[in-house]
Amino acid sequence: MLVVLALAGRYYLLSDAGASSAFTELTGTLLLLALLLSACAVYILLQSFRQQKLLEEQLKISRKKTEESVIIKDRFMANMSHEIRTPLNAIIGFSNRLQKTALNSEQKEFVNALQHSGDALMRIIDDVLDFSGIENGIIRIDPVEFGIRDSLNTLQTMFLGKAREKNNSLTLHIADQLPASVIGDSTRLNQVLINIIGNAVKFTRDGTIHVSADVVKDEKDIISVAFSVKDSGIGIPEQHLDKIFERFRQEKSDSSRTHGGMGLGLALSKRLIELQNGSIRVESNEGKGTEFIITLPYKKAKPLNPVVKEDEEDVPAHIRSKTRILIVEDNLLNQKLAGFLLKDWGFGYDIAPNGLIALEKMKASKFDLILMDIQMPEMNGYEATQSIRKEIDASIPILAMTAHALPGEKEKCLKYGMNDYIAKPVREAELLSLIKKHLRLNVLSQKEMES
Ligand code: MN
Repeated sequence: MLVVLALAGRYYLLSDAGASSAFTELTGTLLLLALLLSACAVYILLQSFRQQKLLEEQLKISRKKTEESVIIKDRFMANMSHEIRTPLNAIIGFSNRLQKTALNSEQKEFVNALQHSGDALMRIIDDVLDFSGIENGIIRIDPVEFGIRDSLNTLQTMFLGKAREKNNSLTLHIADQLPASVIGDSTRLNQVLINIIGNAVKFTRDGTIHVSADVVKDEKDIISVAFSVKDSGIGIPEQHLDKIFERFRQEKSDSSRTHGGMGLGLALSKRLIELQNGSIRVESNEGKGTEFIITLPYKKAKPLNPVVKEDEEDVPAHIRSKTRILIVEDNLLNQKLAGFLLKDWGFGYDIAPNGLIALEKMKASKFDLILMDIQMPEMNGYEATQSIRKEIDASIPILAMTAHALPGEKEKCLKYGMNDYIAKPVREAELLSLIKKHLRLNVLSQKEMES
């Protein structure tokens, strides 16, 4: 482009050479200069424009790459979770069944070890998934009214046995000003305190663990509660104190060998507390003990509003035996496990290995409740539920029972028309109470009228 302009200027000069007046020559030179300058300006403008385009293009590409890698990561997490949970469901479920059979003391110990390891593995998977949920903004805080004093008492009971095993005392003090109930997320509070009390028990031997709850601020609608977990355990070296809330950080690289864990729990606890606008800090002396202090704001519950306990009324045996539950599940071991459980609880059942067969079975005979796996060949749980709702039965309780346990999965199941959700590995008591709840809601009155 520059070359063309320069040539054009030169041509102008040459064609005017005939006149050979100094004035025109000067004008010609000036004109040439002006042309050259503007050409330069245009060139520079074009160049910078092109550069900007290039940068924008690169930005677009890198943004797309980031988005893609997030999607790939999510998909990987979902698959990993599913692939681990499916066999884990069988391991935990069958070791539970094994424990109920006649065993000698040595065998009992082995089964115990299996159960503990299964539970530990499950907690790790849950932590990893929670992390991915926080990163993707899927984890939300669910504030509801809950009995905060009851929660703390339950936690103490839960850890008493473990504390005694290591010759520790575990005491609890709840300040008188703390009301019976507040409005907040009890699940997340429990998750954090279980992690921190669990650590205290893990790192203390022949010592004391003291849990307390105090009211530190009492404003119009908000009450700030400080929870402290103080132990007389091994403590944390000063140089590690500021790093213990970092993700994947272990206190020492060799502590994983003696104590395990620690990599994710505290980092997750911190994130969960911050999601609730709270804070967590730690004080520790190596060799003397550690104290974690968590402060969380809660909305005050209206006084004289007793915490409503869920109706735990049982489903009578004569009605259980008349109830038929359809297990829709492709994994052979998990089919067997669910069958064993339902038989133990006195329910009738049938098994469909995929959604299509479930539809056939439902057309052929009557069921009262469905346990629905999600990932299955031929027809998955989402499709099966949609078809059942559209073609066969709009109201039968369908409980998703799935190894798909990413945050947000429950909402997805409900959106497809299921009534409730339970993650694999299934906790037996949880499954039974869920079944009872939905039978009471939908089926019980009808069965009672029939009988
Ligand atoms: Mn499956």
